Amino acid sequence: MQDIIVIGGGVTGLASALALAEAGLRVALVDPVPAPGDGASGVPSALLTPPVGRLAEKPLGQLAYASWARYPAWVAGLEAATGIAVGVHRCGSLRLSTERPRRPLRPGLAWLDRDALMRIEPAVMGAAAEVGGAVRSGAAAALSPRNLLAAVEVAYQRAGGVVVRSRAVALLTAGDRVTGVRLSDGGTHAAESVVLAAGLGAPALLAPLGVALPVVADAGQMVQLTGVPCPAHILLVGDYALVGRTDGTVWVGGVHLPADGDAYDTRRATGELVAVAADVLGARGRVLRAWEGLRPRAANGVPCIGPVPGWRGLLVAAGHGSNGFLLAPLTGAAIRDWASAGRPRDTVAALCDPARRMGVPVAV
Ligand SMILES: Cc1cc2nc3c(=O)[nH]c(=O)nc-3n(C[C@H](O)[C@H](O)[C@H](O)COP(=O)(O)OP(=O)(O)OC[C@H]3O[C@@H](n4cnc5c(N)ncnc54)[C@H](O)[C@@H]3O)c2cc1C
Repeated sequence: MQDIIVIGGGVTGLASALALAEAGLRVALVDPVPAPGDGASGVPSALLTPPVGRLAEKPLGQLAYASWARYPAWVAGLEAATGIAVGVHRCGSLRLSTERPRRPLRPGLAWLDRDALMRIEPAVMGAAAEVGGAVRSGAAAALSPRNLLAAVEVAYQRAGGVVVRSRAVALLTAGDRVTGVRLSDGGTHAAESVVLAAGLGAPALLAPLGVALPVVADAGQMVQLTGVPCPAHILLVGDYALVGRTDGTVWVGGVHLPADGDAYDTRRATGELVAVAADVLGARGRVLRAWEGLRPRAANGVPCIGPVPGWRGLLVAAGHGSNGFLLAPLTGAAIRDWASAGRPRDTVAALCDPARRMGVPVAV
């Protein structure tokens, strides 16, 4: 019997499985496909951009900064354990704004007026006439999502973790305890605890237990452009992000494009991103590639990380929205602490306690 089963091998499940294996637990990770899996982890930018302005003080901002603080040591540990270069490029971000924020900026953030902005980021040529300046964050970084996922998976296996290539079709229960998982090949795996990190697959596994997980799909669109000025910083404009790549192309992502089922229109969403880039960079460029994905987002934006109310032996880590990569080190540590000590050591992680948003299950 495994001590613990983690369902889902996206960035959340992998980070959780690694932290548990490093803590000495016997862990089995269940996902039918190799990382980055079938979910959101295969399509991100991936940027590490803790929020600026008033969002920085909200719960999600606190979580983002707490996880960001863990990133350098986390990545250094991964690189040392695996020899895989994760490729974190600390380029900093500029949040373009028409006016200087009224609130004092938190440490690490600075206001640049228009002239200072133009000096350090000449790629901002389009909307320049309307831009009053930008909030600069030295913390923001871009990384290679594939390298990160590969490093976490290798580190996990070197720490003794096992990977099971199968789909979880049901949670096994006895009374109010979850005792394991049934797989699509008909087999079962018993465990003392199960961590549900299956992204958008998580609600369906919880529903038969009478638990409604408040996680919904949030569509995100990306385009890769050529023929536009390549910014040296991550540029944040409203809900959009523009990032220059080492090959001179620019990736543009819509951070919160609405997902409304059949009405979601890839061509329209792509056109929106091209228009944003033209607005900021002063050139329309040519689309080399366009891709989209569904992020698992918790209803109030704060992910659920911790024990599922009403069920012993069941933890959940889901709903990371636009920040699954940024929040990965904090998520792993929180799941490890919940599983081994019954509460997270990092008090900020308690903001994600599912008991805050999920009621006691109804009888099924
Ligand atoms: C376009 C786009 C851009 C983004 N940009 C960024 C960014 O810049 N920075 C950032 O931090 N985040 C970004 N994100 C968000 C980030 O990608 C997600 O928050 C993150 O990938 C969520 O990871 P997850 O592991 O929770 O879920 P997922 O990646 O969706 O993984 C879920 C996993 O569970 C598996 N699974 C599902 N059901 C089952 C089952 N029944 N049994 C077994 N396995 C199952 C799936 O195969 C999958 O591997 C972006 C997302 C998108 C779509």
